[in-house]
Amino acid sequence: MTTIAVPAGSPFGLDNLPYGVFSTPGTGPRVGVRVADSVVDLAATLGDAVFARPSLNAFMAQGRARWDEVRRRVADLAAGELPDEAVHPVLAVTMHRPFDVADYVDFYASEHHATNLGRILRPDSEPLLPNWKHLPVGYHGRAGTVVVTGTDVVRPCGQRTSEGGPVFGPSQRLDIEAELGFVVGTPLPLGSRVSTAEFADHVFGAVLVNDWSARDIQAWEYQPLGPHLGKSFATSISAWVVPLQALEAARVAGPVQEPQVLPYLAEQEDWGLDIDLAVSWNGQVVSRPVYREMYWSPAQMLAHLTVNGAATNTGDLYASGTISGPGRHERGALIEITWGGRDPVDVAGRPSTFLEDGDEVTISATAPGAAGGRIGFGDVTGRILPAVDLPA
Ligand code: MN
Repeated sequence: MTTIAVPAGSPFGLDNLPYGVFSTPGTGPRVGVRVADSVVDLAATLGDAVFARPSLNAFMAQGRARWDEVRRRVADLAAGELPDEAVHPVLAVTMHRPFDVADYVDFYASEHHATNLGRILRPDSEPLLPNWKHLPVGYHGRAGTVVVTGTDVVRPCGQRTSEGGPVFGPSQRLDIEAELGFVVGTPLPLGSRVSTAEFADHVFGAVLVNDWSARDIQAWEYQPLGPHLGKSFATSISAWVVPLQALEAARVAGPVQEPQVLPYLAEQEDWGLDIDLAVSWNGQVVSRPVYREMYWSPAQMLAHLTVNGAATNTGDLYASGTISGPGRHERGALIEITWGGRDPVDVAGRPSTFLEDGDEVTISATAPGAAGGRIGFGDVTGRILPAVDLPA
């Protein structure tokens, strides 16, 4: 038997207990829980086949009462003695994408981000479009290209404008978007709605998201139907899903919403989240976005997503949109930090605007935990590989 030592200040203490999917050499992917620097094999510990699967989906589909029950059991077990074969050093395991992504939607919930983008892209008009304060604006992304942290990102090719007309080639304005993603556990059939009060019955937890964005491809294609190939080449998520229960101590009131929103978007409980992010570019922190300033809450986003009766499925992922605060170094996208490429930032001595081949970006985050310290999300990392010339 073994006991897991949890050092004081560990972001993976017993008040966090995030879920992931891991494998060890010679064994298949299965569900584990992170405790300090260890991964606890849930199939081996609890003897339940739902955790022997290579994704969290079957467990997430069991619903909130079951999530609460398992969390209590895991907290008890992790505090005591565990079978040796059920505990692995986190450095000795391979992490996999933690859930099968059903649908993927990306919102645009930061007023600072939407205002900055409006000013950069449409300098002669009002930065926020007339709908922005009445509904959480979003678009449908590509679920099939959501990848786990550590997956390399090949620079996409596509169309961009030039003085002589559109040209095809590798993106020259490759960017990031630091976001938080919410994972639906409990599904609902077509013709149902999830009210803002029902958010915690449906959403299992949260991950970090990097919504890689090719700004030149996006700028040429996005009107009138929104982003498409400028985003769909890759979206990275962190390996650990932080359960909603672990975020209780991070809940705060969101900003005052004026004008008042329509009744179906009215917040019943506070679902603003006091989460601090850090964006590092080739190892240098270039931004510290704060989630607590987000205008639209995740409960409002889900209520909006389903108000037309759209079905939700286990594994649906919806992301917040770029998280930006008011300061330059609180912005979650390079297009904002560099103001469209006008104001380079220093990255280890290199004046930088957009991503170069070989660059690596890591987004991490922490939040207040129930034990008085901070809990961690781990991180989402990706490295840019050169564009690949596809056969005609
Ligand atoms: Mn985005």
